[in-house]
Amino acid sequence: MGGQYSRESSKKIMKNTSKRIKKTVYIKTFGCQMNKADSRRLKELFAMEGYNITEKKSKADVMVYNTCSVRGHAENKAMSHLGRLKFAKKNKPDLKICVVGCMAQRMGEEIIERLPHVSIVVGPSTMFRIPLMIEEEVEGVVLDTADSVKEFSDYIDEAACEKSEYSGYIPIMKGCNNFCSYCIVPYVRGREQYRDKSDVINECRSIAKKGIKEVMLLGQTVNSHPRFKDILKEAASISGIERVRFVTSYPGQMDREIVDIVAEHSALCNYFHIPLQSGSDRILKKMNRKYTAESFLDIVLYIREKIPSASVSTDIIVGFPEEKNADFQKTLDIVEKAVFDQCFTFKYSPRPMTTASKMDDDVSVKVKKERLAILNRECEKRALERNKMLNGKRVELFSEGGRKGRTDTYKIVFWEGSPSPPGEKVIVNVKKAMPHSLKGVRVL
Ligand code: SF4
Repeated sequence: MGGQYSRESSKKIMKNTSKRIKKTVYIKTFGCQMNKADSRRLKELFAMEGYNITEKKSKADVMVYNTCSVRGHAENKAMSHLGRLKFAKKNKPDLKICVVGCMAQRMGEEIIERLPHVSIVVGPSTMFRIPLMIEEEVEGVVLDTADSVKEFSDYIDEAACEKSEYSGYIPIMKGCNNFCSYCIVPYVRGREQYRDKSDVINECRSIAKKGIKEVMLLGQTVNSHPRFKDILKEAASISGIERVRFVTSYPGQMDREIVDIVAEHSALCNYFHIPLQSGSDRILKKMNRKYTAESFLDIVLYIREKIPSASVSTDIIVGFPEEKNADFQKTLDIVEKAVFDQCFTFKYSPRPMTTASKMDDDVSVKVKKERLAILNRECEKRALERNKMLNGKRVELFSEGGRKGRTDTYKIVFWEGSPSPPGEKVIVNVKKAMPHSLKGVRVL
């Protein structure tokens, strides 16, 4: 059904809307950087159609909720948020409430049944038709089809990043082919779709001209793009782009050549996010992760050798079905050897549609909590160890506004001294290291 809202008809509607009374749209984003990037593009599309963008719900004629399905907690949060909007709809009956993204794709009709004040539910690759659907007064559920997913990769070329910011998200691929047994992404985002290298590079050039200094190349498995290495090299050579990041790297496709390219190009940030998930090969196999703990550690140690200052962050799940103490211990072993700069840790919980949801969720909540607490303690200890290496050193930041900024290694630094607008370069002398951030004094 999504295919009927074609790119051409969207363009036509956009041309025809100049005479219409200006409406106001509020967009709220849940979830990952891909969702944030999608929301930015959605804002551009609404703006192209003459909408005002507002940060205030009370001013909105249209509300768009871009949702996440990766964890049950994220869905519950979004549902309770959406539930409260029935009062807004009661006070303003013409209000259009739209739910888009991964949760929309997964739950479809259920959202409308449970929340009748929601007008439209639209999948992640079809969400770019929302201005058109509102124009045509479409209501109900419009999920992604194979056509809409295919069309998406063309469509995203049309919108740019927000001009007010110094950093731009650029998706280079979408979807995932890996089918990790716990993950819902391939079911709600579809299979991998790659953007042409030239489109990616042209978009980098175009946002550089608008003053964007930092580019974040995005993909669920960003390094599976067939031209990933070329994209890195070319993006790093664009005049005006001072920092290029990329997330998320799939460990099975993370090779030494990528590390070498990062080491050779000063604009490529010394930051790698590589999700380990488990240090036990037995559990990795059950997770359908296509690498071993040894190969994972090998690449991290290579990064440490080649670029000693680089940050490495990771994601880890505890309490996956059949995870024994010995498996958990293997995860702790990798944490000790890899000395991650940052760990995002999670208790396993089954997600519908996934293979793991059919497995016996046999690790008790109590054990999951205990393992998570131990893991967090160990991760914080290592992160602090890494951050302490910066004590007394000068670090260069891009301000995020006020007295907070990030290093090229993605570390958060707070400083004493004069504040800075977003994107300004600041030099800080680090005085104190904490597990999740650094404090210092501004010297430039
Ligand atoms: S690599 Fe695995 S965890 Fe990551 S998006 Fe793909 S299926 Fe999900």
